[in-house]
Amino acid sequence: MPASILDGNRIAAVIKAEVAEKVKTLSSQGLTPGLAAVLVGHNPASEIYVRNKVKTCHALGLRSEQFTPKEETTTEEMLALIRELNRNDDIDGILVQLPLPRHIDAKRVLFEIDPAKDVDGLHPVNIGLLASMQPGLVPCTPEGVLEILKRSNIPLEGREAVVAGRSDLVGKPVAMLLTNANATVTICHSRTRDLAGVCRRADILVAAIGRPGMITPEFVKPGTTVIDVGINRISERAEFDKYFAGDAKREAEFAAKGSTLLGDVHPKVAEVAGALTPVPGGVGPLTIAMLMVNTVKAARLRRGKR
Ligand code: NDP
Repeated sequence: MPASILDGNRIAAVIKAEVAEKVKTLSSQGLTPGLAAVLVGHNPASEIYVRNKVKTCHALGLRSEQFTPKEETTTEEMLALIRELNRNDDIDGILVQLPLPRHIDAKRVLFEIDPAKDVDGLHPVNIGLLASMQPGLVPCTPEGVLEILKRSNIPLEGREAVVAGRSDLVGKPVAMLLTNANATVTICHSRTRDLAGVCRRADILVAAIGRPGMITPEFVKPGTTVIDVGINRISERAEFDKYFAGDAKREAEFAAKGSTLLGDVHPKVAEVAGALTPVPGGVGPLTIAMLMVNTVKAARLRRGKR
């Protein structure tokens, strides 16, 4: 039986509707949460991401301001901007769109953000709060992964979870969240021996490695829930055929746009997994939804409300 599809668009829509309700209530009390989005230079993908984040803020009734320093901006200038936003009481959340140009020290910039306004949850204070199960701001994509699992009634307690990837942005926080939810968690990375064998132990497998289609059916125990965080653009015809030959919908998309998106999970995994997030339309939509959740949460936490 093919895997059931965990529809990220549907779950994200429900979460956004919940956020809009909360914003309505807060606004009636004179508090409209505000997000500052900082976009450096002209990375086309980043421009699209930030545009979508700002658009979603407006759709849900949140305030948003965009800051667009030039490509040549220095680390010191970025730090000065962050300090100014930290002081600005109208701003509840600060989002610095990654990647930053190479000459900017991204870690220094991210660590300068007031942890109470760190809606991406990447500040060491928030990572520490997550590790010690205290209320704080949790990175958006990992939090989105957990929302998909919980809202799809996938049991976590006592289950074997394997996270492929150990980045600060995705793998490590996903592993912490799963541990906090009482799963038994294994983290894999590029030095893991017998990656397929370790992944096959999983009841819940999270793929966040950035390698198109690498998780093939051999990595997946029948019935496993597979969460595909990867986003890889496929634009070579030969590569497209390797994954999508015979898929009429993808074929039409490829013909129209010259590319399509593929996760870290091979499409054939749908034949063995019990449940699977699609790419696109799986984890991706949750990332923006959780940013909105975090902005409201930051506005409340800053004012001593839980
Ligand atoms: P990184 O490149 O920062 O991390 C990749 C991780 O995968 C590393 O820990 C690396 O191991 C591991 N890895 C790489 N190759 C292998 C391999 N052959 N075998 C085992 N492990 C391997 O990526 P991110 O965590 O930032 O992102 C992962 C994917 O998720 C990307 O496709 C990215 O585009 C996507 N993404 C999607 C988001 C969304 O909204 N859906 C948001 C953020 C990311 P090591 O540490 O040893 O190098």
